[in-house]
Amino acid sequence: MKQYEFWLMAGTQTLYGDEVIRQVEEDAQAVCTALDEDPQVVGRVVFKGAVTDSDTIERLILAANADPDCAGIITWMHTFSPSKMWIHGLTKLQKPMLHFNTQFFRDIPWDTIDMDYMNLHQSAHGDREHGFIGARLRIPRKVIAGHWGDEKIRGRIGAWVRAAIGVYESRRLKVCRFGDNMRDVAVTEGDKVEAEIKLGWSVNGYGIGDLIALVDEVTEFDVNRTMEGYRERYTIATDNMDSVRYQARLEVALRHFLEAGGFGAYTDTFQDLQQIRQLPGLATQNLMKDGYGFGAEGDWKVAALTRVMKLMARGLPGGTAFMEDYSYHMDPENEGILGAHMLEVDPDIASDKPRIEVHPLGIGDRESPARLCFSTGEGEAITASLVDMGGRMRMIVNEVRACAPFEDMPKLPVARVMWKPYPDLSTSAEAWIQAGGAHHTVLSYQLTSAHLRDFCQILGIEFVLINRDTKLDAFMRDLMVSDMVWRLNPYA
Ligand code: MN
Repeated sequence: MKQYEFWLMAGTQTLYGDEVIRQVEEDAQAVCTALDEDPQVVGRVVFKGAVTDSDTIERLILAANADPDCAGIITWMHTFSPSKMWIHGLTKLQKPMLHFNTQFFRDIPWDTIDMDYMNLHQSAHGDREHGFIGARLRIPRKVIAGHWGDEKIRGRIGAWVRAAIGVYESRRLKVCRFGDNMRDVAVTEGDKVEAEIKLGWSVNGYGIGDLIALVDEVTEFDVNRTMEGYRERYTIATDNMDSVRYQARLEVALRHFLEAGGFGAYTDTFQDLQQIRQLPGLATQNLMKDGYGFGAEGDWKVAALTRVMKLMARGLPGGTAFMEDYSYHMDPENEGILGAHMLEVDPDIASDKPRIEVHPLGIGDRESPARLCFSTGEGEAITASLVDMGGRMRMIVNEVRACAPFEDMPKLPVARVMWKPYPDLSTSAEAWIQAGGAHHTVLSYQLTSAHLRDFCQILGIEFVLINRDTKLDAFMRDLMVSDMVWRLNPYA
């Protein structure tokens, strides 16, 4: 993920003389190198110099805006840096901003500290001056305070860096919709203009006929090559090779369409398939495994969010997948939620080698589709949902403990996962439902709520969290206050 750059700017001023500025440069370069070399901080951290005046700061920020590789800026005030000289730059900033309140030396040198030392190492008050101008300008920014040598602090910077990468990818995402939403469904609807303004998502519809034309053109050579890929990745556990080959044909056509249009995510709907003989199952699952976002029933919000979260999470252990809450297990001794979909569960979260199976679909009027069936692993995870509240987007995140299904389900021929939501099933479900969270979610073993909180903060999206500390009374009050704030907030 070294293609994403983060520009570190060290604030200072000319008052102290050249020697101090030279020392600031040297120290900031050391901090930059420590961040850049930490594997927790993906992307490149590039030092852009000690800045001492308004013109330099403005030029640098305009350059960051214009640079296609720059995914964010990091500011740190090594000395005092009078913050009125940051106004011309910061008012024009369009990239995510992290204000890193650190200090070159961790400890006070008790025996040697003198006024020269105090002049040089002034982060404790220089960063407060910088904090004021950020607050005064209402700039959405992350603030992290702590010593740069601390691995935990660098880990928090790493989480923000991933969020900023999510924003970078969000702002260039194109989503293809084959057909419209499943008829009469509310939560999958939303304002696509608002989504493009706030999240950068370009969401557009295409007739299913455009895809059908491509399906008809797929050659046997391409089908055979795709089948080879299936044999490498999966176990074929069916005799109905005609169904599997048809999914391969669908995949070739879908991939061709998505690549030609530069799409990172797509939706389809079982209500608009026309001459397509099977709902894409295996085809979509294999595309998700390759990183495409997908939303069923026309759900473009979950398709886009899946794509963005996959890109944010690259390289982390676990997986990230389009998911749907299906059934509860309400045994008070062992409660949980069974997640699955009628077909399209992402093998990114498989804990065993997925099997290709063919079974009838209980919905729609099509041939029995081939799909991947697999189990999933245990671990801390999150479920995330994005809904349109009318005038603003709201993201709801629940921290959960994912686990294998409590028992075998021999008659359920889909991939499945279970999770125990925090703080408990009743509180989680009540809070989720009060907040309007969807049944479609993105389940991630890779990301935490901290990643998505930062992502929402950068983009100006409302963020609602359900976790171990959630108490329903306080949660309801927060929703009410938040609703009021978002109606008043001129920056939303
Ligand atoms: Mn669904």
